[in-house]
Amino acid sequence: MTQAVKLFYRYGFAEKELFRTCAQCFDGLAISAQMLAYTESTVYATLMTAVQEGRPLPFFIDPMTYVFARRIDNLRIDRKIKKSFKQLMSEYGPLIADCAQKGELLPDQFLDPNGKINNSLVLQMAVHVLNFERNKLNTFTTKSSLPKYAKILKRTPPTTQLSPSFLVAPYFYWGSRNDPYYGINLALSRTADSSKGDMQLFAVLCFSKELLVDENVLAEVVKDYAGFDGYLIWVSGLDEESTLHSYILGLRSFIKKLSEYKKPIYSLYGGYLMSILSKFGLSGFCTGICYGAYKDVDAQATTGGGQERYYLPVIHLKRMESNLRLSLSVSANNVGLLCDCDVCDSIKEDLSKSLPMPARGYVDQFFNSLGSRKNSFREHFVRARHQETLAIEKETIPEIVARLKVEALEVDNADPPPALPPPFQNPLTSGHLRDWSLLLS
Ligand SMILES: [Zn+2]
Repeated sequence: MTQAVKLFYRYGFAEKELFRTCAQCFDGLAISAQMLAYTESTVYATLMTAVQEGRPLPFFIDPMTYVFARRIDNLRIDRKIKKSFKQLMSEYGPLIADCAQKGELLPDQFLDPNGKINNSLVLQMAVHVLNFERNKLNTFTTKSSLPKYAKILKRTPPTTQLSPSFLVAPYFYWGSRNDPYYGINLALSRTADSSKGDMQLFAVLCFSKELLVDENVLAEVVKDYAGFDGYLIWVSGLDEESTLHSYILGLRSFIKKLSEYKKPIYSLYGGYLMSILSKFGLSGFCTGICYGAYKDVDAQATTGGGQERYYLPVIHLKRMESNLRLSLSVSANNVGLLCDCDVCDSIKEDLSKSLPMPARGYVDQFFNSLGSRKNSFREHFVRARHQETLAIEKETIPEIVARLKVEALEVDNADPPPALPPPFQNPLTSGHLRDWSLLLS
């Protein structure tokens, strides 16, 4: 039996109630720096309420610095930089604040006239970012005069400080070891490490998936990054469902190698594949609730929203609710693929009082009911994911392989949905389950 894979959810305003009701289903929060910069009061209230209720939520802050070295237009919505990022830019010192007018950071800006990395500039950025992570929540408590938070503050012992579990070094994406940002990232990580004081500091390795097939380069990367308290990894754009087999194998061997340092390794994004990789040295991963299983560094900022997606445990992926309504309602056999977490079971129980299971309309009623209960899609996701991580913790590698094969067969044996025009796509696919099982054998 391996150590349980740790699950960090991305902090989001819409999810804050769930962090309370499902506190036992996850291990902590990953708070994106722009969210903290822009909505510090609600982040503060969420964390402090948890302290007062005797179940403090471990958390860390993702400094998100990479966005300032990609196209600044990625941060714009309707031609304006998203307010949360604008606020963050003002927190990170002049170099980043200037990006709003001057565009993204270029590697040359980190070099001195001799072409060497400008150490004082790197130090300046590391200090700005680490101070933000360390102090943002606590400086808020001293300047707050909002009555809503004054009540929380009154109930809180004056010495209560909200401290992240570890600091995260500022980071940039690199496409190869020759990319100038590779050296800049390493310099930032080492400088941050020497400025961490009495806290732990994790370095971030955010890179192109193409590198996963280059075992020699990744071995050098692991050597370069010796000596940190822990690691956050992010393979940009690695979609667990459709990724190449060689990428998965590369990721597995990279994690194995990095884990020889015996320090925690968390993936900044991920889904079920990351739970499996806990068997090869990954300590945990972060995800949004119902979003954020993978991310590309060049993703455009969004306002969120969109159609509900339901996490279907048998395929370990989320699917559009509208597609599932069509494919699961085909037969009683398909209805059996619905989840059996507490949330889904309680809906099924209510339905069975009025409707025998294979009846027409059962699946529609199931989803109508799920949609009408506040936060149900999300709570189902959190509970289903929790069940999965508990199961993986107990399973051996051969047991996981066998189970993935059974699940793939179950999906293959489902009755086919009617042929429908796009955008309908049959959500019941099994190829990725077989790919993942190969990763283990
Ligand atoms: Zn469920």
